[in-house]
Amino acid sequence: MKYPSLTNVINGETAPSNGELLDVFSPVSGELISKVPLSAADVVDSAVRAAKEAFPAWSGLSIKERAQVFYRYRHLLEKHFDELAELITEDNGKTLDEAKAEVSVSIEMVEFATSLPELTMGEIETVSRGVECRSERFPLGVVASITPFNFPNMVPNWTIPNALVLGNTMVLKPSEQVPLSANRIAELLEEAGLPKGVLNVVHGALDAVEAICDNPGIEALSFVGSTRVAKIVYKRGTSNFKWVLCLGGAKNHLIVLPDANEEMTATNVAASMTGCAGQRCMAASAMVGVGDVDSIIERLCEEARKIIPGKNLGAVISREAKVRIEGYITEAEESGAKILVDGRGVLVEGKEDGYYVGPTVIDHVTPRMKIAKEEVFGPVLSIVRADNVDEAIEIENNSEYGNAASVFTQSGGLAHYVAERASAGMIGINIGVPVPREPFSFGGWNESKFGTSDITGKSSIEFWTKLKKTTTKWNPEARTNWMS
Ligand code: NAD
Repeated sequence: MKYPSLTNVINGETAPSNGELLDVFSPVSGELISKVPLSAADVVDSAVRAAKEAFPAWSGLSIKERAQVFYRYRHLLEKHFDELAELITEDNGKTLDEAKAEVSVSIEMVEFATSLPELTMGEIETVSRGVECRSERFPLGVVASITPFNFPNMVPNWTIPNALVLGNTMVLKPSEQVPLSANRIAELLEEAGLPKGVLNVVHGALDAVEAICDNPGIEALSFVGSTRVAKIVYKRGTSNFKWVLCLGGAKNHLIVLPDANEEMTATNVAASMTGCAGQRCMAASAMVGVGDVDSIIERLCEEARKIIPGKNLGAVISREAKVRIEGYITEAEESGAKILVDGRGVLVEGKEDGYYVGPTVIDHVTPRMKIAKEEVFGPVLSIVRADNVDEAIEIENNSEYGNAASVFTQSGGLAHYVAERASAGMIGINIGVPVPREPFSFGGWNESKFGTSDITGKSSIEFWTKLKKTTTKWNPEARTNWMS
């Protein structure tokens, strides 16, 4: 194995689990590269105990002192940039360029966290003569973060910097499919001066997640992953009276109008559907072509054919994912859709056992087909045809998801019309991947998110803190009234 078996990290110490170990495979080569412990409730208990012990001292520091650790952590992310990117590629299978972009976003997340001392300043006002009201934010205590396979470095960095700078301590449960990055993140944070026990890493899958949902020592938990699991975690966590924020799956619609700029649309849509092998919750999944957009589709297919598996297109996460994605394509074909670019059955020379699917463009998909409704999570674009813009909006609105939606047009009025009516939390105008960068926040609507507030940016402050309001009176001569 290229990497030794992973261990949990509890109270700054590596803690081997005596439970079962799961094999970790490289999506690029199909080889066994490591093993990861499948921890159970006892390990979660120890991690929560460590986080609880670390909480008083950590939350007792000023927010500016806590932010200092993250200035140093940011420097370490830059120092180890290439190594961190390689680690992402190892167990996730995305290309090295994509992995580098991921680490860059993590750095941006940390930069935002270091601005939290300014952003979380309390408020104070004289609310009646001699009576002053002030509000300030307090950390919640021990929190947990459960993360998916598609961004092994970035998604943990969506939650760790903000939650910790705001004074919480944490149990991180990374995806068992991509466990390598989490331990390295913990090591770098320790090197940056994070006290022991403030961040604990518990590896595992279902048992560990259930134990997190049930553990009474955990005040809040965030989850990023599929909608199916998001619903389970949201229900279980809230039934145990925790604050829960669950980000789920997506089916992002890109509405393309006939006046759209051909080159910009084709290149943006192709990049959006194939980036990270389509395994992004912001990926273009369905394109709704309004009226005659044939020349844009032709150009889009040209762009898609330039994206070569093993070169500028990474692998999908597992053999099962490859089979599932190819199954969607075959089912669409059998239901009458037309495959314009076919990514099934690709073999990459020298990486014959890798889990590759080529770019796939499917035209004349109807809204009733399975591929039009479900999240495929591969480099596959379904094109649905619409006669007019209202029909296109209706198709988008009918999706049960609501992460992102985009419109491609040169008309400001039409762009605004679609943006206002799309039922999604993140909207793009002539943008294929409309990720709102910091300090704006990340989060969808409908079945793409359960819970209030977003997971990053300013909105996340609401989730990771509780507000205290203190009312003070300093004028003894004031008459008593109803609020005395
Ligand atoms: P997943 O739901 O399978 O797993 C996510 C986490 O849940 C992992 O840590 C996993 O160990 C755990 N888990 C898996 N099955 C479980 C179960 N039955 N009970 C309890 N815990 C369980 O998701 P994934 O395949 O790792 O990630 C891909 C999904 O994540 C896609 O649907 C994608 O759209 C979504 N995603 C969403 C966002 C967003 O911001 N909305 C961001 C990234 C990924």
